[in-house]
Amino acid sequence: MYLRKTDAVVIQCADYGESDIIVTLYTHDFGKIRGIAKGAKRSKRRFVNNLQPFSYIRVIFSEARGGLIRIDQADIIHPFFRIGENIFKILYGSYFLELVKEMTGERESNPQLFGLLAAFLAVLNDSIPREEYLRIFELRILDLLGYRPRLMECTICSQKVSFGEGALFSYRHGGVVCKGCQVKARGAVPICAATLKAMQMAMEMDLGEVEGVRFPSEVLSESSQILPRFIQYQLGKGLKSLRVLEEIKDGL
Ligand SMILES: [Zn+2]
Repeated sequence: MYLRKTDAVVIQCADYGESDIIVTLYTHDFGKIRGIAKGAKRSKRRFVNNLQPFSYIRVIFSEARGGLIRIDQADIIHPFFRIGENIFKILYGSYFLELVKEMTGERESNPQLFGLLAAFLAVLNDSIPREEYLRIFELRILDLLGYRPRLMECTICSQKVSFGEGALFSYRHGGVVCKGCQVKARGAVPICAATLKAMQMAMEMDLGEVEGVRFPSEVLSESSQILPRFIQYQLGKGLKSLRVLEEIKDGL
């Protein structure tokens, strides 16, 4: 049997039958894959509790039937266990996992996306959870999957946006629309220059700087309105973890 090895982040796991576990992984080399860990509930030696969401593991696996893989071994590299200590860390981390799960197809390798997910889980594990992380992650995953929003030139006429005149964000056109093109972009929403600049910066910054980023409150609230909706527009559906997050925020 041909064995493969790759690094992976556990996206989801569920009990299957008496002793097996079904897992969804986002891997460095193979993108998203689903697999079965036979006897995982019994075999403490091979799996312990390594197949928990957020864990960064190294897996050894072979191909099984129905597009599944059979996980033979899972060694922990980073447990990111401090994510489990705070409700907002759990909610933010769950949103990262759900975005990766819903926005990628099975077996579409994207090592940069794997790196992005691992980097953000590490930041979440090691620091106070900040809403900026959600917005930066959204922008970076959009970029890596080919949906990078155009923020500096009008998506219709390609002219550099003059911030003094005000600008709009169009979900349909995938970015900013100038005042002159407004009539051609129904449903576009106003966006201020500071938000556009912060979003552009978030797409270009070094991932090592994420922890130190602070958006002014109006930038945070405007980007929090626009980016999740833009993702929803691209996906054609909303995300569960985001709904939970918003309900909890509203309840505070
Ligand atoms: Zn224009």
